[in-house]
Amino acid sequence: MSAPQWREIAPSVYVRRHDELELNCGLVVGEKRALVIDTSGSSARGQQLAQSIREITPLEPVVVNTHAHYDHCFGNSAFRDSQIYSHSGAADDLRLTAEHQREQLIAHLNNTERAQWAEEVRNTEIVLPFYLIDQDTEVDLGGRTVHLLHGGPAHTDHDLAIAIPDAGVVFWGDMVEQGADPMMEDAFPLQWAETMRNLQSKPVVSDATIAVPGHGDVVDPLFVLEQAEKLQRLADELAEALDSGVREVDALVNKSRGLGLQDTTLREAAMRALEVSRR
Ligand SMILES: [Zn+2]
Repeated sequence: MSAPQWREIAPSVYVRRHDELELNCGLVVGEKRALVIDTSGSSARGQQLAQSIREITPLEPVVVNTHAHYDHCFGNSAFRDSQIYSHSGAADDLRLTAEHQREQLIAHLNNTERAQWAEEVRNTEIVLPFYLIDQDTEVDLGGRTVHLLHGGPAHTDHDLAIAIPDAGVVFWGDMVEQGADPMMEDAFPLQWAETMRNLQSKPVVSDATIAVPGHGDVVDPLFVLEQAEKLQRLADELAEALDSGVREVDALVNKSRGLGLQDTTLREAAMRALEVSRR
């Protein structure tokens, strides 16, 4: 397995792609500070990330977690002296679910013979983000400004997208996935596409030419548009079936086939749509 490397995708905007989960972390270097986007999946991995950043810039890091799933925030302890931003819902979610996420991950890693990584996760100290935002927020890095954007419920109820308008780049977190289906287990499949459109209606997003998914290859705005359209068709199928009284997961899955999404994805989406519609 090769060590992850930073790649400059626009002036002083970098992506670090990891073999595991095809995870992308980001780095945006200003004149005074540098923004780190997501901290990877354990304290040890966060330390490696912090070290790799020091090879690019000596500037003080500021951190943002795109959402509260372990692979995006369990490395926070390596940045405990930095301002760590997230949506307020991410801090609430992490407080409630971190230990459950840890247990599930350790079980999964042990089952797949990755005991060393499991140990790393066991030894991970959870550090909650504490610069909490509920609305779009600008962060001045010195000479350039990044925008932390929340468009509504999507992959979770607290996703942030990060726009760097001077570079024409948007980091989408897991609202956009390349190479795999969008992950539905905590998602809002009936609203996800609408949330993406909300974000795409903001000039700092609509003017961008480079889109970085939470996992997979860097893509272009057309890819993002096509994913939003696919999610809209899924939302339409699910909503129509729910409106006509369908309440069985299998029936909902049958209704939403043919969109190019895997059955496991459709099943999770159906269960989430049912859960939300029961509230
Ligand atoms: Zn996620």
